[in-house]
Amino acid sequence: MNTYDLLVVGSANADLVVGVDRRPAAGETVLGSDLVVHPGGKGANQAVAAARLGARTALLARVGDDGHGTLLRESMESAGVDTSGVLVGGAPTGVALITVDPSGDNSIVVSPGANGRLTPDDVRAAGELFAGARVVSTLLEIPLETVAEVARSIADGARLVLNPSPPAPLPDEVLAVCDPLIVNEHEARVVLGTDTEGGPGDWDDWARALLALGPRSVVITLGADGALVADASGSSRVASVKVKAVDTTGAGDAFTAALAWRLGTGEALADAAAYAARVGAAAVTKEGAQVSYPTAEEVAAL
Ligand code: ADP
Repeated sequence: MNTYDLLVVGSANADLVVGVDRRPAAGETVLGSDLVVHPGGKGANQAVAAARLGARTALLARVGDDGHGTLLRESMESAGVDTSGVLVGGAPTGVALITVDPSGDNSIVVSPGANGRLTPDDVRAAGELFAGARVVSTLLEIPLETVAEVARSIADGARLVLNPSPPAPLPDEVLAVCDPLIVNEHEARVVLGTDTEGGPGDWDDWARALLALGPRSVVITLGADGALVADASGSSRVASVKVKAVDTTGAGDAFTAALAWRLGTGEALADAAAYAARVGAAAVTKEGAQVSYPTAEEVAAL
């Protein structure tokens, strides 16, 4: 049986990007730049980020029997990801249709495609991947019933890391096994069910409110302000690394993957988060998501 430092169960998307002078209004057609296609999706991003750092990484995902699926598999394999769990067929590969204007503001339409066809049965059929994984990381770009099956499939001694993105309220059986639940402010609000203005107070209060929902530990990511980690023994702040931010796309995915991998090596939550903050910072210094992810040497040099 193969063993993995990290098994990611998640999405793989082709990001189709066109630059425009102005994003079109309803009923309007505008001309844009040449199309650029990037491998993306939060699951594939995490898997590539971890593999580039040197983690033995596998991805359980579903892509279409099409060119985008081939592009994604090639990108992951060249980063060293084990793609034996990447299933093919059932729907076209998921795509994100992205228009970006000169100020960097974008409009995005996501077609989940094959990601929406990753089923609880697919998870049950991947018992070997789960049996060999120290840490399993998942997210919400796949059906919630599939995420619930992932939570039930964690092997003894392994741990589940969940970034609930795009955010949705979570069932208790999923929350109870998260170690940690990783959220940014927006995701925290949705998971807590608080309105856009209100909130629990300072970040320690947010962490306590999230812990009260049942996860074993919580990480709140705060962009350029770093992160906060919390568990039953208390909370602590994780400083960010000062860098010149060029493009924050995919920084959260790199942070989550790095944190999950380091936890699997036995590192304490605060230490793993400090390492992940360096990886997230390195990822924002370059354009793009997967292409911006650092190697362990690049993290050490930061
Ligand atoms: P998300 O993309 O999920 O909202 P964040 O933007 O909070 O996630 O980024 C994840 C982590 O990456 C942060 O906790 C931080 O450690 C690091 N990071 C993100 N943006 C920056 C930045 N501008 N400078 C330094 N570190 C950053």
